[in-house]
Amino acid sequence: MPDIIQLLPDNIANQIAAGEVIQRPASAVKELLENAVDAGADEVKLIINDAGKALVQVIDNGKGMSIIDARMAFERHATSKIRNIDDLFQIRTMGFRGEALASIAAVAQVELKTKRAEDETGTYIEIDNSVVKKQEPIAFNNGTSIAMKNLFFNVPARRNFLKSNTAELRHIVDEFTRVAMAFPGIFFSLTSNGQEVFHLDKGTLKQRIVQILGNSYNAKLVSVEEQTDYLNIYGFVGKPETAKKTRGDQYFFVNNRFIKSAYLNHAIMNAFEELIAKDSFPMYALFIDLNPEHLDINVHPTKQEIKFDDEKIIYAFVQSAVKHALAQFSITPTLDFELDASIQHLDAVSKPLTEEKKSSAAASSLYQAFTQKNQAHFIDNKSDLRHWKDFYEPPLEQRPAAPAPLHSTEQKPLVKDEPAHSNNLLQLHASYIVVQNDQGYLLIHQQNAHERILYERFVNALKGKPVAAQQSLFPSTIELAAADAVLLQELLPDLQLLGYQLEPFGNNTFVIQATPADLDQGNEKAAVEKMLEQYKHFSVDIRFTKKEKLLRSLALQQSIKAGTMLSQKEMHTITEALFACETPNTTPNGKPTYMLFRKDEMDKMFGR
Ligand code: ADP
Ligand code: MG
Repeated sequence: MPDIIQLLPDNIANQIAAGEVIQRPASAVKELLENAVDAGADEVKLIINDAGKALVQVIDNGKGMSIIDARMAFERHATSKIRNIDDLFQIRTMGFRGEALASIAAVAQVELKTKRAEDETGTYIEIDNSVVKKQEPIAFNNGTSIAMKNLFFNVPARRNFLKSNTAELRHIVDEFTRVAMAFPGIFFSLTSNGQEVFHLDKGTLKQRIVQILGNSYNAKLVSVEEQTDYLNIYGFVGKPETAKKTRGDQYFFVNNRFIKSAYLNHAIMNAFEELIAKDSFPMYALFIDLNPEHLDINVHPTKQEIKFDDEKIIYAFVQSAVKHALAQFSITPTLDFELDASIQHLDAVSKPLTEEKKSSAAASSLYQAFTQKNQAHFIDNKSDLRHWKDFYEPPLEQRPAAPAPLHSTEQKPLVKDEPAHSNNLLQLHASYIVVQNDQGYLLIHQQNAHERILYERFVNALKGKPVAAQQSLFPSTIELAAADAVLLQELLPDLQLLGYQLEPFGNNTFVIQATPADLDQGNEKAAVEKMLEQYKHFSVDIRFTKKEKLLRSLALQQSIKAGTMLSQKEMHTITEALFACETPNTTPNGKPTYMLFRKDEMDKMFGR
C-alpha cells in the first residue's frame, strides 16, 4: 500500500482556516473595522453592496502601511501587534492573530489601497483567491482602504449557505454598531447600496448610544461608574421604563472588545430585578477595563468570548455597580445592595481574606477595594439594613428620660426648649413620612410602605401565622355573579388564614362571619367586593400563582392610601413595621417604598 498523507495546497488550507474567521459578510466587517481602529483612525467609513455579498469596503484615515507591510499583511499569521507569547497577555489592540486579511484573501477578491503619512506614494494590491494579481504605486490619501468583493466566489458551497440579504444585513449592522459603540471618539458611517444608513459624528459615549439606539434613550440613561485598583466599570444602563420585550440593546465590552457573556448578562439582569418585569430586557452599554493580564481573549477565533481569571468577582462587581447606579438615580432605594444569593455564598465574597489571598494578585485587590472604599455594603449582606434600623429612633416616650436642662436665670430662651432630636415625624402631602437623623433623611411613601408591610404579614399568615380576625356582630350576606362566586369559593381556605371567614350560603351567596381585625368594621361587604375586584385585576397577569395574586391584591387594597392624614403613632408604626420587613425597600411590585437623602450629598449640592 502506498503512503496516503499529502500536504494540502496553500489555497485550500487557507480556505479551510478562513472558515473559522470569515463565516459571513459581517465577519469581514468586524475584522476590517477593528483593523481601522487598531490603525489609529478617527474616521472610518464602511461601504457595502448587496448585504456585503458583492462588496464590503472599509476606508480609514489611520496610519497606513508601507509597501512591504501591505504585501505582508495578507500572509497567514502576519501581524504587527504581537511579537512574542508574553505580548499575548498585554493586548490592547482589537486584532493580534494575524489571520483576518489572510482569511479574507482566501475566500474573496481583495483590493487594498494604502499610504502612510511619511510616504510620497501609496500602494495598490489586488489579490484573488490568495494569489497576488497586481501590485503598483498609486496616489492615495493617508490611510487605508480595503475592499472585499464577491465573498466565497471560489467556495460556492459556502456562498450557498449565506442567508437572505435582510438577515446578512442585520448581522452587518450588529457588528458595525458594536464597534461604533465602543469608540465614540471615532467617526463612523455605513453606506448600503449607495445609501448612507449611519452617520455617527464623534462625541461622548452617551451621544453615541443615542445616535445608535435612538432618541428614545435621551434622558433615560443612568450612568454607571465604579473604579477599583483591579478594574473600572463605566457606561450606561437604561432606566427601567425603557426595558423592552425583546433582547437587543445590550452591549458589554471588556477593554473595548464586545463580548457575549450570559453570565455577566445575568449579573446585570439581577441588578434590575424587581424594577422590571421578568420577561423584559433592560438596555445597557457597559465597559469593563482591566489589566489584560487578567484576561484570556484567545479562547475563540472571533474573540467574542473571553475568559477572566476570576469571573465570580467580576460578576459581583458588575451587579453591584449597576445596582449602585440605579440607586444613585433614585430608581431603587439606596438600602438594598444585597448580592444574589448564589454570589453571596461564593468563597471569594463570603469568606474573609486569608493572608495568602490578600497578597495574591488581582482578585483580592478588587475585593479589598470593595471592602475598603466604603463599599462594604455591596458585599456585606444587609449591613445597611441594620444601619437603617439604627437610623430610625423609637419615639421619645419609649426612651429613658434625658436629664433636665440646667436652668439659667440670665438668659431667657426665646424658643421653647426642644430635644436635639425631636421624634415627631413629619408628614408631607398627606402621603410621605419624613424620618430624619444627623446622617440625612428618609422619605417614606406611606402607601407603598404599607403595601410592603401587609404583603409580608400576609405571606406569613399563609405560612401559619394567621391574621387576627374579628367576628362580625351582625353577619352580612353578599351575593355575587356566578363567576365571582366560583372564584371566591376557590379562595376561601386562604382567605380564612388572612382573616376573612366566609361561608357559602348557596345561590352564589356568602355570609361574612369575620374580617381582619385591622379592617374598619361596618363595611365588610364592600371590603370583600373590593378585594375580589382587585384580584380579578391581577388575574390577567400570568406571572403569578393564585396565592400570590391574592396576597398582592389584599395588600394593595388594604394599604393606607396616599392622601390619608396620619397620626404620629401611625407614622411610627409604619416606619417601624417597614424596617422590620424582610425586603423593606420595594412594594411587592417593585415600586420603591422610600428614598434616602444623605446629608453629606445634600451638603455637596449646596457647595458645602
Ligand atoms: P491582526 O489585526 O490580527 O494583526 P490582520 O490580518 O487583521 O491581523 O492584519 C494584519 C496586519 O495588517 C495588521 O497587524 C496591521 O499591521 C496591518 N493592517 C491591517 N489593516 C490595516 C489598516 N486598516 N491600516 C493599517 N494597517 C493595517
Ligand atoms: Mg485584524
